[in-house]
Amino acid sequence: MPQSYAYLRGEIIPLEEAKIGVMTHAFNYGTAVFEGIRGNWNDEHQTTYLFRLREHMERLVQSAKILNMEVRDSVDRLCEVAIELVERSAFTEDVYLRPMVYLSGEVLGVRLHNVETDNLIFLSPFPAYLPEVARCHTSTWRRVQDTGIPPRAKVTGIYVNSALAKTEANLNGFDEAIMLNENGHVSEGSGENIFMVRKGKLITPTPADNVLEGITAASVVQLASDLGIETVEREIDRSELYIADEVFMTGTAAHLTPVVEIDRRTVGNGKPGPITSRLSELFYDCIVGKNEKYAAWCTPARLRVTS
Ligand code: PMP
Repeated sequence: MPQSYAYLRGEIIPLEEAKIGVMTHAFNYGTAVFEGIRGNWNDEHQTTYLFRLREHMERLVQSAKILNMEVRDSVDRLCEVAIELVERSAFTEDVYLRPMVYLSGEVLGVRLHNVETDNLIFLSPFPAYLPEVARCHTSTWRRVQDTGIPPRAKVTGIYVNSALAKTEANLNGFDEAIMLNENGHVSEGSGENIFMVRKGKLITPTPADNVLEGITAASVVQLASDLGIETVEREIDRSELYIADEVFMTGTAAHLTPVVEIDRRTVGNGKPGPITSRLSELFYDCIVGKNEKYAAWCTPARLRVTS
């Protein structure tokens, strides 16, 4: 039977025993940084492949650096623990790992200094996050910017911005929000980067447009380049998305999701376009360890057969 384990205060324990106190600084002030990592189950191999594990742990450490937080464990150790958790938990389905560095001190006072830190990892089964194709709207909420809380750091507190946008979208009958930045340019989804296709090229906002620098996005840019498709990073207007040939979103939770409608305008012919489809096919092969060329992106965690 699968059983979820968590890593907390330097120990691997059953998930239900992994508890924090009500005075924990991170709980009170949103002072934590985190990651989401997909473990993609390959039934034939009886193996879960952790997608770009090291890159996620490196981004965790970078997020912590932006918040001036110390990380107790090394990237190597965090990767080792992640594999151990997946192997011990023994799920035979896709999982989602949540590493976090958080201010664990049980003290009052808004600050980032002189508060104890810890890092934790837990995991959970995680089915599809978005439908196969997404209908989006432009959010009335603007993306937070680097001058407020840097979106380049994956800070838990920032996700109030994402949650406002996501809830507004869902309550208005859409699958996902597209957020503009304070300059009125397209930034990203509530938990995804965004790409459009125009004249055979991929176009995506720049890191300075207040986006999280996505690991899935970087992987898709690499796949596109290997297929001979160029990617341009530049500012995108909202209205440009309306006339794009294709639009898709990328993210750990969303994988690669075609966007078929924005603000009640059909994108292209309302179906995933040819470039999106080619990239998507290649991407889904890569993440389950089926494509040798990109094997380095997948860290295997093997099911432990217990009798
Ligand atoms: N933007 C935001 C706001 C996100 O939360 C995520 C998900 N981590 C992404 C983009 C996509 O990043 P990644 O591909 O690294 O998961």
